[in-house]
Amino acid sequence: MKTDVEISQNAELLPISEIAAKIDIDDQDLEPYGHYKAKVSLNNVDDNLGKLVLVTSINPTAAGEGKTTLTVGLGDALTELGKNAVLALREPSIGPVMGMKGGATGGGYSQVIPMEDINLHFTGDFHALTEAHNTLAALIDNHIHHGNELNIDPRQIEWKRVLDVNDRELRQTVVGLGGRTSGVPRQDGFDITVASELMAILCLATDLNDLKERIANILIGYTYDREPVYVRDLKVQGALTLLLKDAIKPNLVQTIEHTPAFIHGGPFANIAHGCNSILATKAAMHYGDIALTEAGFGSDLGAEKFMDIVTPKLGKTPDCVVVVATIRALKLNGGMNKSELANEDLQALEKGAVNLYRHVQSMRQFGVPVVVTINKFGTDTDAEIELLSKLIGDNLGIQTYVSENFTQGGKGAIELANGVLEAIEQPSDFTSVYNADDELEIKINKVVKKIYGGARVELSGKAQTQLKRIKKLGYDKLPVCMAKTQYSFTDDPKN
Ligand code: ADP
Ligand code: MG
Repeated sequence: MKTDVEISQNAELLPISEIAAKIDIDDQDLEPYGHYKAKVSLNNVDDNLGKLVLVTSINPTAAGEGKTTLTVGLGDALTELGKNAVLALREPSIGPVMGMKGGATGGGYSQVIPMEDINLHFTGDFHALTEAHNTLAALIDNHIHHGNELNIDPRQIEWKRVLDVNDRELRQTVVGLGGRTSGVPRQDGFDITVASELMAILCLATDLNDLKERIANILIGYTYDREPVYVRDLKVQGALTLLLKDAIKPNLVQTIEHTPAFIHGGPFANIAHGCNSILATKAAMHYGDIALTEAGFGSDLGAEKFMDIVTPKLGKTPDCVVVVATIRALKLNGGMNKSELANEDLQALEKGAVNLYRHVQSMRQFGVPVVVTINKFGTDTDAEIELLSKLIGDNLGIQTYVSENFTQGGKGAIELANGVLEAIEQPSDFTSVYNADDELEIKINKVVKKIYGGARVELSGKAQTQLKRIKKLGYDKLPVCMAKTQYSFTDDPKN
């Protein structure tokens, strides 16, 4: 089989205007960036929304479990069945693209293209975010340099600087060296752009005004008297929003099989909410009859956050959840060594399958139909596939769909697509894990009990102090966004 790069480079690209025409995007709303990419302004998006399918997975290996690949393949399969399917996916960060994870445009014959553009600078959204983030950092230091009217304590600034690479050397640094004219020395540090609060905000914003309001409310640090200081105190929310005026618009591209795809925003799911922008998902639901979106890492991270953090703002809950499993990740979860995953091991598979049951059961608690698919790898043996399908039937009472879209494109996921078409017509009765009005400790406990399978939460002294501060700041009625490892249900990657 050809490599991912060879496949994407040999793919036929249709002009983006043709893709837009397929889903009736008005010429006025389409802003082409070259021939094959465009931004779409959402002037005409109403509440007439199509069905929504959320793709999530078991706890992943370091390479990912093929959620994006599967989402693309499922979209292409639905297109092949004559449905108007539109994708909403996350935008890759250059950090992971250059690192262990690699690109995030799918794989095999299920890719979004032009792959190099999407993986690298794309339409410049992340650069705009980097610029807006660092502008705020510079404005904070500038304020302190010019007399510090707000009395900001340089030791309690919570707003760092960002770059879209993971640069270990810059995590902790000292800034403001160089004497009187070069600022006030203090400790600072760099995060990766996708970890910026601005990224999370951009992805939750419902329009430019909402974005501006959210930016105004960013907590940047504390005064010497420990009082909070917000962006609105610096009165720079307008300028920062302006730097994001184009970045807020979803980007339209296509799959190898010409299914339309909105790719927009990409917060991490282990520290933030892990889903593409609300505006991209809205666009996919508006322009498509079936929208497909992916939540980062396993269902314990991205999908829980999609349900509890995103859906209240999106105004729509999923009509079906697809849980992607791979035999190699289940074997890894079953205790097999990473280097041996290509070998058949039915025992490790059976042991690791428990991980899949848990993900499915925790998704079922949301009251939405759940479909399971095995993303088939070349190393999977017939005996392993047979065993896993049987285990899924016995333990979860459902049929398993084996997806071969990586090697076959949309044709390889037709059975899954038919299963999904059936599932989205089933009645669903959505319930979130917690209520917004619950006390903070209750919200956290509910996530830990219902999703992570823990007995209860034990708060360290430091965590208790932090919770007190969060309450005092009036944040306790917001949803909780948990930060934890993506490699297991617990806080321990190996257990
Ligand atoms: P996720 O979205 O879950 O992080 P991706 O779809 O990005 O995962 O896939 C991760 C990597 O695995 C990609 O490099 C992709 O090409 C590869 N991959 C996905 N599915 C398969 C498969 N069935 N066979 C071989 N490689 C695959
Ligand atoms: Mg992905």
